[in-house]
Amino acid sequence: AIVVDGVTKLFGPLAALREVTFDIAPGELVALLGPSGSGKTTLLRVLAGLEHPDGGRVLIDGADATGLRVQDRQVGFVFQHYALFRHMSVFENIAYGLRARPRRRRPAEADIRRRVGELLDLVQLGGLDARYPGQLSGGQRQRVALARALAIEPRVLLLDEPFGALDAKVRRELRRWIREFHDRTGHTTVFVTHDQDEALELADRVAILHKGRLEQIGVADDIHDNPASPFVTTFVGETA
Ligand code: ATP
Repeated sequence: AIVVDGVTKLFGPLAALREVTFDIAPGELVALLGPSGSGKTTLLRVLAGLEHPDGGRVLIDGADATGLRVQDRQVGFVFQHYALFRHMSVFENIAYGLRARPRRRRPAEADIRRRVGELLDLVQLGGLDARYPGQLSGGQRQRVALARALAIEPRVLLLDEPFGALDAKVRRELRRWIREFHDRTGHTTVFVTHDQDEALELADRVAILHKGRLEQIGVADDIHDNPASPFVTTFVGETA
């Protein structure tokens, strides 16, 4: 489980997150939804350990993760700007996180090969291990990025606009795939989107952010039927 407890993040005079508090149950799929600049990516980066909060704390499975480095918190993430390594094959991209470990925690080469093979099957890219990112479609690249995030056996999977920059058909396929994958593996997953349909269709619960505040978190029906603030009413009404 993840506990976000009063997290504030400042960038100079700007509060990108203001005392954000909520819990995520083990195995839950949560969408972070909100307009541009509302703090979605910042919150995901705080969960990933890429940003340290100026106030509050984050607990992952009961342990205070606030001061932990990225490598030590067992989260897998796919951020848009963390693109694949272009000069590395699909195989090498996926194996990267395992090979980057300190020697005593690094699996044997045979184990790395087996693990990467399993992951390639999982994301349905078997046989493409020798290709380079430039020889793959956008959707295939997203799945390689996902396999790379999963290679370290994360407790938590964090996805920033995982379907951004893809055409509508591929988006639909990947959405279905993520949902099935989540149901099959039970990874706790948090993903950022500004597509309301995507959030409502995929997520168990949706968290709505506005100007760094968590306006509401709940299941889709609840948010529609009982919006917690005038902002939520307008925001949900606009694109519904
Ligand atoms: P988008 O949907 O456009 O990606 P977002 O909801 O993910 O937006 P964030 O990227 O979290 O929003 O940004 C929240 C606020 O914090 C914005 O006003 C942004 O300009 C600011 N911000 C984010 N990162 C930094 C940074 N490294 N330095 C300064 N300001 C930042």
